[in-house]
This record gives sequence, structure tokens and C-alpha cells, in this order.
Amino acid sequence: MPSKPPSCPLCGQPRVAEFKPFCSRGCRDRDLLSWFGEGYRVAVDQVPDGTADDDRFDEG
Ligand SMILES: [Zn+2]
Repeated sequence: MPSKPPSCPLCGQPRVAEFKPFCSRGCRDRDLLSWFGEGYRVAVDQVPDGTADDDRFDEG
């Protein structure tokens, strides 16, 4: 079985040494952004729980 030449994991085009393992700066940036995007989404996904009703103080 002949081994396939390495290709960009995002779009499948032949990778470029400068941006490896991607084929271009665009694909490399896209990969980075997707990582940042997921991290951001996880951080934002937390919903503060607790109701305002419990927070009331009765003075007097
Ligand atoms: Zn690519």
C-alpha cells in the first residue's frame, strides 16, 4: 500500500511546511479559533443558579 502524502486535516489539501500540519495560514487560524471558541463557550455555558426570592431580608 502506497502511503498517502500528508494533507491538511481541515480541508485535505497538500500541507505546507510553513503552516504544518495545515495547508495555509487560513486553515491554521481556523483551527486555533475553533479551540478558542470552544473554551469560551464552555466558560460562558455556566448559568448562575439561585433565585432572588431567597435573598430577601426582613428587617423589623
Ligand atoms: Zn487546509
